[in-house]
Amino acid sequence: MISLHSVSKTFGDHTRSVAALDDVSLDVARGEIFGVVGQSGAGKSTLIRTVNLLERPDAGAVVVDGVDLTSIGSGQLRLARQKIGMIFQHFNLLSSRTVRGNVELALEVTGAERRERRRRADEILDLVGLTDKAEAYPGQLSGGQKQRVGIARALAAEPTVLLSDEATSALDPETTRSILELVRTINQQLGLTVLLITHEMDVVKTICDSAALLESGRIVEHGPLVELISRP
Ligand code: ADP
Ligand code: ADP
Repeated sequence: MISLHSVSKTFGDHTRSVAALDDVSLDVARGEIFGVVGQSGAGKSTLIRTVNLLERPDAGAVVVDGVDLTSIGSGQLRLARQKIGMIFQHFNLLSSRTVRGNVELALEVTGAERRERRRRADEILDLVGLTDKAEAYPGQLSGGQKQRVGIARALAAEPTVLLSDEATSALDPETTRSILELVRTINQQLGLTVLLITHEMDVVKTICDSAALLESGRIVEHGPLVELISRP
């Protein structure tokens, strides 16, 4: 469902450069939850941002659902991105919009009519358990509730892929558990393929089917979780 083929990305210029990704290849199967784990600076953010081409690789191919995103034009890329939802460590909600408004905004790109946007927003807010907060503003919510809004917004355009950028890193352990449970439920109920990055091995152990270990821009381990955690 998601394949990176020999992806490289270097930041900087000829005087000082950092290889954030160095010949990275990985495959995420349809319907699985795949985790990329690594320390700060390993290249995780750069990796996940290449999957929707927020970051354009210097070399290599990024294939999502059979389409090589590095080889298509901007119109096609916009359509392909609608199929890729993303959630963030700091939620990235608009504070001036209500919970429902944040979700509806994400539906504007789909061209859905106003009434349909509202219906769809309320449907997703129900799915993430926030129906009673639809009129609230982000500033009135707990961290866990904010991330539920982030998830609802990411799901608005009915993506086939969900990218998670350290989505639980700002949350306490109990809230982390409930958000990971929600991600698992979405994965199972909607059949979404999930790619997450995290610096916490516990997150990977809790929900991932497969994982890769990233060190200094290179994948040093890659495989089903059961094999990875049983290695010495
Ligand atoms: P992680 O998410 O694992 O912490 P990043 O992908 O953010 O790692 O960063 C990988 C490396 O690339 C780091 O050395 C970082 O400093 C560098 N880097 C990331 N983004 C930029 C940028 N926009 N400009 C310069 N260097 C960058
Ligand atoms: P970090 O992981 O460094 O804490 P965030 O997860 O908050 O950063 O954001 C990651 C990146 O996603 C930002 O650098 C920004 O360019 C981009 N971004 C921010 N808001 C949105 C959004 N609503 N939709 C898509 N991309 C966004």
